[in-house]
Parts: sequence; structure tokens; C-alpha cells
Amino acid sequence: MAKESKKTIKKHASVYANVVRQFNKAADFMKLDPEIRKILAKTTTEIIVNFPAKMDDGTIQMFTGYRVQHNNVLGPYKGGLRYHPAVDIDEVRALATWMTWKSAIVNIPFGGAKGGIQLNPFKYSDSELQRITRRFTFALGSNIGPEYDIPAPDVNTTAQIMAWILDTYLSTQPPQERQRCTHVITGKPIEAGGSLGRDKATGQGVVFTIEEWAKDKGFSLDGATYTVQGYGNVGSWASLLLKPHGSKLIAVEDVTGAIANAKGIDPDDLNVYVKKTGGVKGYVKARPIGHKTLLSTKADIFIPAALENQITAETAPLLNVKVVAEGANGPTDPDGDEILQKQGIDIIPDILCNAGGVVVSYFEWLQNKRSEFWDLEEVDNKLHKKIVNAYERVRDTVKEFKTDWRTGAYIVALRRLETVYKERGIFP
Ligand code: GLU
Repeated sequence: MAKESKKTIKKHASVYANVVRQFNKAADFMKLDPEIRKILAKTTTEIIVNFPAKMDDGTIQMFTGYRVQHNNVLGPYKGGLRYHPAVDIDEVRALATWMTWKSAIVNIPFGGAKGGIQLNPFKYSDSELQRITRRFTFALGSNIGPEYDIPAPDVNTTAQIMAWILDTYLSTQPPQERQRCTHVITGKPIEAGGSLGRDKATGQGVVFTIEEWAKDKGFSLDGATYTVQGYGNVGSWASLLLKPHGSKLIAVEDVTGAIANAKGIDPDDLNVYVKKTGGVKGYVKARPIGHKTLLSTKADIFIPAALENQITAETAPLLNVKVVAEGANGPTDPDGDEILQKQGIDIIPDILCNAGGVVVSYFEWLQNKRSEFWDLEEVDNKLHKKIVNAYERVRDTVKEFKTDWRTGAYIVALRRLETVYKERGIFP
């Protein structure tokens, strides 16, 4: 499989415990209805499937796959599938919960879910990955569906993998249902029903939020410096899209290593190199640096775009930037968050910053349902509007509650969920 989204930067500690801490803080702050709090504090469904797949040498290997559905009061469950050795129930639970908040913040009619397989995809051939993916889809069966639970790409999962899931799902439906079901998955290749602009959508959303932050601060992105952790889909697209602003990438890290060049690294050139070699290591137009040097590089913007728990009590004091734009899900743990705030570093929280992906997934879903195909300009304009509106809602809430940005973002989401629960009531 393509190596560009290879990310195995290590995570540690319970990620779900972080979500619970963030949620409790916001719920206390906004005085969330205690009954509704009980509901949102739990996931709805947790699926763990052990399933076999045939290897190229004819042997069978067992795999463990997950799908956690957190909440669907706002619409069908929605969220990506991750292929990574660190995937476990704790991580998937956290990621599913963040999806609920994310969809609520950007005002799209989706709930939250997440899934994945615990494996290192780089150890398998394309044909093995295809069989693993198809067998996982088959194992999930009717636990996913176009109006029920709609997966998408996440760490190490590509448009090709989405096409295999689509084909497997459709092939297991009655023939007369098949054409009606292409919106069972988003992030598909364009030819197979994908949307223009979905590939870059998360990075594009990150850049739209950075633009809004810069406007608010009266800060010019022209000549601004930034550093990136992770040069997969999100990190590389955010860098490519910051280039026209005249911003300068001065250090970048992925699983293969970290590199720096104070004069700037060209994101396009680095992208070609990473696609060819599988990582940033050995890129000759920059010098190799260590992980801590990357984190302590003085810059205007830091974009973590890899895994969870990267900015912690231990690493947050190293950061020397004006803003952290969270391209990844959960890159900052609650201790790291407090330290950044004390240091006066702004945070554009993940559930706002990286929501561009799910927004364009929603557009893809709509196009499939209506048998439409939108041009890129339309997708980009609609995405821009969604992200700017969400940014403004969070900014206003931060002002209203005099709180930090993550708590503000949570309050936007929780208010919306609370309102819907109050309107609908609890069955029976
Ligand atoms: N995996 C992405 C995320 O974490 C996209 C989810 C989707 O498009 O459903 O937001």
C-alpha cells in the first residue's frame, strides 16, 4: 500500500481518560443537564470482531477489528477506520466520542463512531490488505450502513481501502439495493463515487482555521514559520495549502525521523520525496534533528498531525510557538493543555481544527444520495463556510463563558446535543 500515510509515532496512557476529563470539565462549566450528561458519558455500542484472513502463503491469520458507536442523536454514526498496531478499545472509544462532538460543532447531521484493525498495514501485501479489509467489512455486516453508520479513512487507510469496503458491502446486499447504498462509506476514489476535495479536506480545514486565527490576531501568515508532526494525509495537505500564503515549513517529523531547515522546506518537493521513500528521513535539503528539537523549534505555528498524546506534561514545556493547530485527534492531553494555556500558547482544538474531513465526507454522502457530482469550487466554498461558521461559534462561546478554546468547542457541541435530547425526550 502507499506509504505516504505511514504514522507509527508512539502513543501512551488512556486516551479515553483524556476525553472523559475534557468532557467533565466542559459539562461542569456549562452546567450540562445531569441526566443528559449520563447518556453522553457512555458509548452506545462497542463491537469487537476477531476474524480470519488468508495470507499470500496460504496460511490463515486472525485479526481483531473494532467499531465503537458513541452517539446518533444528531444523525447516523460517522467516523473513520484506522489501521494501526496501537488500535484498541480504549483508543477507538475516545475517537468515536470525539466524532460526536466534531459533527455537532460543524453542524452536520451525523453522530460519532470510529473503528479500525489492530495491525501494522506495512507488513502486509496489497492483496493481503484487500482480503483483511473485505473480511473485516463482512464481519461488521449490518452494523454499518448508508443511513446507519458510515465509515471513512483515518490513519493508514486510503481511498483504495474505502473502495474495497464499498465493493464488499454492496456485494453482500440484495441486488436491487446495491445502487442505493454507495453512501455507506466516504473517502472513496472519485471514480467510485468519491467527492472532489475529500482527499485534502482535513488539511484544508486545518488551514481555514489557521486563517481565521490569524485574522483574529491580526497576524500575517506571509512569512510565518510553522512545524509539523506527521507528514501523512493531514500534515502534507496542510503544508501544501499553507505554501500559497507564503508561510515557511521549518521542521517536520514523521515515524522515520525529523528534519529541519530554517530557510524553509518546500512542501511540494518534500511530498514527492515522501511518496517515493515512505518518510521524511534522508531528505537532503534539510538536516536531521531529534524529536525534542522538533518540539522545541521556535516557530509561529505547530501542527501536530499524527497520533494522540504527543503534547503532555513532559513535552508541552518544550513548545515555543504562538498557536497549536491540532490536525490529529487528541494530540494534546489535559496536562499538556494546561501547560500550553499557562505559556500563553493558543490552541485550535482538534474537534474544530480537523473537522474538514468529516464535513467533506458529509458532502460526499449527500452527492451520492442525490446522484450529483459537485465541482471542486463548490466543495471548497461550502467547506469554507462550514469551518468559518464553526470557528465563529466556538470563538463566541469562548468569550461568553470566558474559558479556553477546547472547553468552548465542547460547550458548542454539548449545547446542541442537550437541546436535541430535551426536545426529543427519552424513550419510553
Ligand atoms: N477520520 C476523520 C476524522 O477523524 C474523518 C472521519 C469521516 O470523514 O467520517 O475526522
